[in-house]
Amino acid sequence: MTRRIPVLIVGGGPVGLSLAAELGWRGIACELIEQTDGAIVSPKMNEVNARSMEICRRWGIAERVFNCPFPADYPLDVAFVTSLFGHELSRLRRPGRNSLEPPPESPHRMQACSQIWFDPILSDFAGSFASVRLRHRCRLEAFEQTAAGVSAQVVDLTSGAREEIEADYLVGCDGAGSMVRRALGIELVGQGTIGHPINLFFRRKGLVESCGKPPATFYLGIDETGLWGSLRIIDPANGLWRLMIDSSDGTATPETVDRQFYLNRALGRPTDVEWVDVNIWRRRSALAESYGRGRVFLAGDAVHQLSPTGGMGMNTGVADAADIGWKLAAVLQGWGGAGLLDSYDRERRPVGARAVRMATWFYKNAENFPKGSAKLAADGAEGDRLRAQVGEQLLRAIGPEFRTVGLQLGYRYGDSPICLPDGTPEPPDDPAECTPSARPGARAPHAWLRDWRSILDLYGRGYTLLRFADAPPADAIERAAENRRVPLTRVDLDEPEAAALYERKLVLVRPDGHVAWRADAPPPDALALIDTVRGAA
Ligand SMILES: Cc1cc2nc3c(=O)[nH]c(=O)nc-3n(C[C@H](O)[C@H](O)[C@H](O)COP(=O)(O)OP(=O)(O)OC[C@H]3O[C@@H](n4cnc5c(N)ncnc54)[C@H](O)[C@@H]3O)c2cc1C
Repeated sequence: MTRRIPVLIVGGGPVGLSLAAELGWRGIACELIEQTDGAIVSPKMNEVNARSMEICRRWGIAERVFNCPFPADYPLDVAFVTSLFGHELSRLRRPGRNSLEPPPESPHRMQACSQIWFDPILSDFAGSFASVRLRHRCRLEAFEQTAAGVSAQVVDLTSGAREEIEADYLVGCDGAGSMVRRALGIELVGQGTIGHPINLFFRRKGLVESCGKPPATFYLGIDETGLWGSLRIIDPANGLWRLMIDSSDGTATPETVDRQFYLNRALGRPTDVEWVDVNIWRRRSALAESYGRGRVFLAGDAVHQLSPTGGMGMNTGVADAADIGWKLAAVLQGWGGAGLLDSYDRERRPVGARAVRMATWFYKNAENFPKGSAKLAADGAEGDRLRAQVGEQLLRAIGPEFRTVGLQLGYRYGDSPICLPDGTPEPPDDPAECTPSARPGARAPHAWLRDWRSILDLYGRGYTLLRFADAPPADAIERAAENRRVPLTRVDLDEPEAAALYERKLVLVRPDGHVAWRADAPPPDALALIDTVRGAA
């Protein structure tokens, strides 16, 4: 049996689900196949960053993520400790979501929302579109592509039935081991494996309440061997924790790892817990040399593999999905040009490289933090002095990993063939600070409007042409878009603050909320502008 569909998505992790959501939201028919049953026993990611929240806002699900079961008043603090029940050296304060405003650069901030909640929210949303089919226990076994399409061999793991699916496009969101990437012959470049961490998941309620310290989301353990591991509370109401031992010699297996030894070390006293899971995984620093070939594209961990330090893995993948999603929709709807899909690699690969580089840097800062002394755990004045001193050093060395608003929001498509540079200099790219910019290629910056909407709420499924006060008529751009059947909405705005931020009277924002072009007057050739931004120049 052979069926023909527009897009086949391989992999139902958060990135594949995000792509199904993006395509469904745009009315594009797609089928997602996932080899597991979708249940998440031990979540990997726990933090949805500000940019992913903005993307969720566009889809209309940000409130659901914001109101996930992670308690609203639970602080996201990072505490450096000798052990949970031992001494605290210092603490990075990050209040819970109910007591902290988002940063001025975004209507959202990074949100604690574990994959145990985030994936089901994405799945419910994507599955709510009639054009989206989500299939579990279904595996891609092989595929071939021609100039006309992709033919995929798929097996239903429950019934054993085999099937061939013809698709216009295939997107491999199939994770770090990506068979799609390997089948395309695309190599990974970079340092490769940089560690063998062990994740131990367990349940135990009341630990925070009894440890004599204020609640924190992370308790990072330091002793005479240095920073050696972290305790993270995933679900405070149900006492679900992850203990990550930063590195092992790579020989341990889930059966041989001494869970109780590590637990006692992290807690500082023998404690009974309900063990949930053990994972031993490879910490990686690698990027694919290409994000796809022909009609087959790759997104998420299939193309960038990075240390979780900085929380950028899935979040980078969600933005990949948003980028390839609108471009596939544009081509399938007939208005995207022949070069539009090629711009996916040009735009997203440098962003992947940036995420890999920063995540590795954060990890190296922790790995290279000087060994502590046994005196760190000593009671008394001498121990107190040492802890205060090392605590300060820890805040300086490790703090940047948790202050990343620039990293989350400041990526841009500087070398994009579908944005028109305006000759202005690039703003600084500081991971800790976001410099809002409406320079072509940048994420169109957020500003609150008089009616308390974010300006981001104006950006819909098509292009948005912003005309700030005193802007000249831009009918030629609207006519050119109509001529090419490009969806474009003009918005006249009398909003001085936003106008100052966007710096030009006319700004063309793309369907993914990035700036494509800006100027104080329409271009001499409006058709050329529209052709460039739709990838048909
Ligand atoms: C300990 C840890 C903490 C992390 N914390 C964060 C964080 O806070 N924030 C963040 O952004 N990132 C974080 N990450 C990274 C994040 O988890 C990954 O980047 C993210 O899961 C990648 O999503 P993905 O959908 O690309 O791949 P995956 O989650 O690996 O999903 C790929 C899916 O494809 C399926 N699949 C594979 N092959 C096939 C096939 N042939 N047919 C059908 N299905 C197939 C697999 O079963 C799998 O479900 C963390 C990672 C770790 C290890």
